[in-house]
Amino acid sequence: QHTGVEGKKFAIATDTTFAPFEFRDGSGNLVGIDMDLLNAIAKSQGFEVDIKSLGFDAALQALQSNQVAGVIAGMSITDERKKIFDFSDPYFDSGVQMAVAKNDDAIKTYADLKGKSVTAKRGSEGETFAKSIAGKYGFTVKALADSATMYDDVKAGNSVAVFDDYPVLAYGVSQNNGLKIVTEKEQGSSYGFAVNKGQNQDLLKAFDTGLAELKANGEYDLILDTYLAKTE
Ligand code: GLN
Repeated sequence: QHTGVEGKKFAIATDTTFAPFEFRDGSGNLVGIDMDLLNAIAKSQGFEVDIKSLGFDAALQALQSNQVAGVIAGMSITDERKKIFDFSDPYFDSGVQMAVAKNDDAIKTYADLKGKSVTAKRGSEGETFAKSIAGKYGFTVKALADSATMYDDVKAGNSVAVFDDYPVLAYGVSQNNGLKIVTEKEQGSSYGFAVNKGQNQDLLKAFDTGLAELKANGEYDLILDTYLAKTE
Protein backbone atom coordinates (compact mmCIF):
# COMPACT_ATOMS: atom_id res chain seq x y z
CA GLN A 1 0.00 0.00 0.00
CA HIS A 2 1.08 3.60 -0.59
CA THR A 3 2.29 5.47 2.50
CA GLY A 4 3.73 8.61 0.93
CA VAL A 5 7.26 7.93 2.20
CA GLU A 6 8.43 5.11 -0.08
CA GLY A 7 11.65 5.85 -1.89
CA LYS A 8 12.04 9.19 -0.13
CA LYS A 9 15.08 10.27 1.87
CA PHE A 10 14.62 12.24 5.09
CA ALA A 11 17.23 14.20 7.03
CA ILE A 12 16.87 13.28 10.71
CA ALA A 13 18.75 15.08 13.48
CA THR A 14 20.05 13.48 16.66
CA ASP A 15 22.26 14.07 19.69
CA THR A 16 26.03 13.56 19.61
CA THR A 17 26.74 11.47 22.71
CA PHE A 18 23.70 9.98 24.43
CA ALA A 19 24.61 6.32 24.89
CA PRO A 20 22.89 3.89 24.67
CA PHE A 21 20.51 5.84 22.40
CA GLU A 22 23.09 7.39 20.06
CA PHE A 23 26.87 7.25 20.25
CA ARG A 24 29.92 6.37 18.14
CA ASP A 25 31.15 2.79 18.30
CA GLY A 26 34.86 1.89 18.16
CA SER A 27 34.86 2.34 14.39
CA GLY A 28 33.22 5.77 14.51
CA ASN A 29 29.80 4.56 13.35
CA LEU A 30 26.74 6.16 14.92
CA VAL A 31 24.95 3.35 16.77
CA GLY A 32 22.44 2.95 19.59
CA ILE A 33 18.79 2.24 20.32
CA ASP A 34 17.52 5.31 18.42
CA MET A 35 19.68 4.54 15.40
CA ASP A 36 18.70 0.86 15.28
CA LEU A 37 15.00 1.61 15.72
CA LEU A 38 15.01 4.33 13.06
CA ASN A 39 17.00 2.24 10.57
CA ALA A 40 14.74 -0.79 11.09
CA ILE A 41 11.61 1.36 10.68
CA ALA A 42 13.01 3.06 7.56
CA LYS A 43 13.79 -0.34 6.07
CA SER A 44 10.36 -1.80 6.77
CA GLN A 45 8.51 1.31 5.55
CA GLY A 46 10.69 1.77 2.47
CA PHE A 47 12.25 5.17 3.13
CA GLU A 48 15.85 6.31 3.63
CA VAL A 49 17.38 8.45 6.34
CA ASP A 50 20.29 10.86 6.40
CA ILE A 51 21.33 11.10 10.07
CA LYS A 52 22.69 14.43 11.28
CA SER A 53 24.53 14.12 14.59
CA LEU A 54 24.11 17.72 15.74
CA GLY A 55 23.67 17.70 19.51
CA PHE A 56 20.36 17.86 21.35
CA ASP A 57 19.54 21.56 21.41
CA ALA A 58 20.97 22.01 17.90
CA ALA A 59 18.81 19.12 16.65
CA LEU A 60 15.64 20.77 17.99
CA GLN A 61 16.65 24.06 16.38
CA ALA A 62 17.42 22.35 13.06
CA LEU A 63 13.94 20.84 13.12
CA GLN A 64 12.24 24.14 13.94
CA SER A 65 14.04 25.84 11.05
CA ASN A 66 13.12 22.96 8.70
CA GLN A 67 16.72 21.94 8.03
CA VAL A 68 15.69 18.40 8.97
CA ALA A 69 12.40 16.51 8.72
CA GLY A 70 12.53 14.93 12.16
CA VAL A 71 14.43 14.39 15.41
CA ILE A 72 15.19 11.16 17.22
CA ALA A 73 17.40 11.89 20.23
CA GLY A 74 16.01 10.29 23.37
CA MET A 75 13.64 13.24 23.13
CA SER A 76 11.03 13.42 25.85
CA ILE A 77 7.41 13.95 24.90
CA THR A 78 6.47 16.98 27.00
CA ASP A 79 3.38 19.20 26.94
CA GLU A 80 5.57 22.22 26.28
CA ARG A 81 7.13 20.60 23.21
CA LYS A 82 3.77 19.32 21.96
CA LYS A 83 2.85 22.94 21.27
CA ILE A 84 5.40 23.05 18.42
CA PHE A 85 6.14 19.40 17.58
CA ASP A 86 4.11 16.30 16.78
CA PHE A 87 5.40 13.14 18.43
CA SER A 88 5.27 9.48 17.49
CA ASP A 89 3.95 6.86 19.87
CA PRO A 90 6.29 6.62 22.88
CA TYR A 91 9.10 4.08 22.55
CA PHE A 92 10.93 4.32 25.90
CA ASP A 93 10.00 5.46 29.42
CA SER A 94 12.61 7.69 31.00
CA GLY A 95 13.22 10.07 33.87
CA VAL A 96 15.89 12.37 35.29
CA GLN A 97 18.48 11.34 37.88
CA MET A 98 21.48 12.93 39.59
CA ALA A 99 25.05 11.63 39.46
CA VAL A 100 28.28 12.81 41.11
CA ALA A 101 31.97 11.91 40.77
CA LYS A 102 32.62 8.32 41.87
CA ASN A 103 34.96 9.40 44.68
CA ASP A 104 32.65 12.13 46.01
CA ASP A 105 31.18 11.21 49.38
CA ALA A 106 29.88 14.69 50.21
CA ILE A 107 26.94 14.99 47.79
CA LYS A 108 24.23 12.45 48.48
CA THR A 109 21.00 14.45 48.32
CA TYR A 110 19.68 17.63 46.70
CA ALA A 111 20.17 19.42 50.03
CA ASP A 112 23.94 18.79 49.77
CA LEU A 113 23.99 21.01 46.64
CA LYS A 114 23.61 24.23 48.65
CA GLY A 115 25.95 26.92 47.33
CA LYS A 116 27.30 24.61 44.61
CA SER A 117 27.12 24.46 40.82
CA VAL A 118 25.62 21.55 38.88
CA THR A 119 25.40 20.87 35.16
CA ALA A 120 22.68 19.68 32.77
CA LYS A 121 22.10 19.66 29.03
CA ARG A 122 20.90 22.86 27.40
CA GLY A 123 17.24 22.51 26.47
CA SER A 124 16.77 19.14 28.17
CA GLU A 125 14.32 17.81 30.74
CA GLY A 126 17.32 17.40 33.05
CA GLU A 127 17.97 21.13 32.85
CA THR A 128 14.29 21.94 33.41
CA PHE A 129 14.19 19.68 36.46
CA ALA A 130 17.45 21.00 37.95
CA LYS A 131 16.26 24.59 37.50
CA SER A 132 12.91 23.73 39.09
CA ILE A 133 14.58 22.77 42.38
CA ALA A 134 17.62 25.10 42.21
CA GLY A 135 15.94 27.88 44.18
CA LYS A 136 14.67 25.60 46.90
CA TYR A 137 18.06 23.93 47.46
CA GLY A 138 20.23 26.95 46.72
CA PHE A 139 22.40 25.76 43.84
CA THR A 140 23.13 27.07 40.34
CA VAL A 141 22.73 25.24 37.02
CA LYS A 142 25.32 25.41 34.26
CA ALA A 143 23.95 24.38 30.85
CA LEU A 144 26.30 22.46 28.55
CA ALA A 145 25.70 21.09 25.05
CA ASP A 146 26.33 17.36 25.43
CA SER A 147 26.44 14.59 28.00
CA ALA A 148 30.15 13.79 27.57
CA THR A 149 31.12 17.40 28.33
CA MET A 150 28.77 17.44 31.33
CA TYR A 151 30.35 14.30 32.80
CA ASP A 152 33.85 15.71 32.25
CA ASP A 153 32.78 18.88 34.03
CA VAL A 154 31.79 16.84 37.09
CA LYS A 155 34.97 14.75 37.04
CA ALA A 156 37.06 17.92 36.75
CA GLY A 157 35.26 19.29 39.82
CA ASN A 158 33.78 22.32 38.03
CA SER A 159 30.28 21.02 38.72
CA VAL A 160 29.52 18.85 41.73
CA ALA A 161 26.65 16.96 40.07
CA VAL A 162 24.98 16.28 36.74
CA PHE A 163 21.27 15.86 35.97
CA ASP A 164 20.65 13.56 33.01
CA ASP A 165 18.26 10.81 31.90
CA TYR A 166 18.58 7.71 34.10
CA PRO A 167 19.18 5.11 31.34
CA VAL A 168 22.04 7.24 29.99
CA LEU A 169 23.60 7.72 33.43
CA ALA A 170 23.19 4.01 34.18
CA TYR A 171 24.80 3.03 30.89
CA GLY A 172 27.72 5.38 31.47
CA VAL A 173 28.28 4.14 35.02
CA SER A 174 28.20 0.54 33.75
CA GLN A 175 31.02 1.56 31.37
CA ASN A 176 33.03 2.95 34.32
CA ASN A 177 32.70 6.58 33.26
CA GLY A 178 33.87 7.86 36.65
CA LEU A 179 30.43 8.80 37.98
CA LYS A 180 27.96 7.27 40.42
CA ILE A 181 24.21 7.76 40.77
CA VAL A 182 23.10 9.09 44.15
CA THR A 183 19.37 9.87 43.94
CA GLU A 184 16.18 8.05 42.98
CA LYS A 185 14.95 8.77 39.47
CA GLU A 186 12.42 11.54 39.07
CA GLN A 187 9.16 11.01 37.25
CA GLY A 188 9.95 11.70 33.58
CA SER A 189 8.38 11.59 30.17
CA SER A 190 8.65 8.93 27.48
CA TYR A 191 10.80 9.31 24.38
CA GLY A 192 9.26 9.93 20.99
CA PHE A 193 10.26 10.71 17.42
CA ALA A 194 9.37 14.33 16.57
CA VAL A 195 8.39 16.31 13.47
CA ASN A 196 7.25 19.92 13.24
CA LYS A 197 3.61 20.39 14.17
CA GLY A 198 1.39 19.61 11.19
CA GLN A 199 4.36 18.75 8.93
CA ASN A 200 5.76 15.45 7.64
CA GLN A 201 2.69 13.58 8.84
CA ASP A 202 3.40 10.73 6.38
CA LEU A 203 6.79 10.25 7.99
CA LEU A 204 5.26 10.30 11.46
CA LYS A 205 2.64 7.73 10.47
CA ALA A 206 5.30 5.53 8.87
CA PHE A 207 7.35 5.72 12.08
CA ASP A 208 4.36 4.62 14.18
CA THR A 209 3.49 1.81 11.76
CA GLY A 210 7.09 0.61 11.71
CA LEU A 211 7.43 0.87 15.49
CA ALA A 212 4.26 -1.20 16.01
CA GLU A 213 5.67 -3.83 13.64
CA LEU A 214 8.99 -3.96 15.50
CA LYS A 215 7.13 -4.35 18.81
CA ALA A 216 4.98 -7.14 17.37
CA ASN A 217 7.79 -9.11 15.74
CA GLY A 218 10.21 -8.96 18.68
CA GLU A 219 12.81 -6.79 16.98
CA TYR A 220 12.09 -3.88 19.34
CA ASP A 221 12.90 -6.04 22.40
CA LEU A 222 15.99 -7.36 20.67
CA ILE A 223 17.31 -3.86 19.97
CA LEU A 224 16.71 -2.73 23.57
CA ASP A 225 18.29 -5.88 24.99
CA THR A 226 21.37 -5.41 22.80
CA TYR A 227 22.15 -2.10 24.46
CA LEU A 228 20.59 -2.38 27.91
CA ALA A 229 21.61 -5.90 28.96
CA LYS A 230 24.90 -4.57 30.37
CA THR A 231 23.24 -2.00 32.61
CA GLU A 232 20.81 -4.36 34.35
N1 GLN B 1 15.16 13.21 27.33
C1 GLN B 1 15.74 14.49 27.52
C2 GLN B 1 14.92 15.56 26.85
O1 GLN B 1 14.23 15.29 25.91
C3 GLN B 1 17.21 14.57 27.09
C4 GLN B 1 17.45 14.22 25.66
C5 GLN B 1 18.90 14.29 25.27
O2 GLN B 1 19.73 14.76 26.07
N2 GLN B 1 19.26 13.82 24.11
O3 GLN B 1 14.96 16.68 27.24
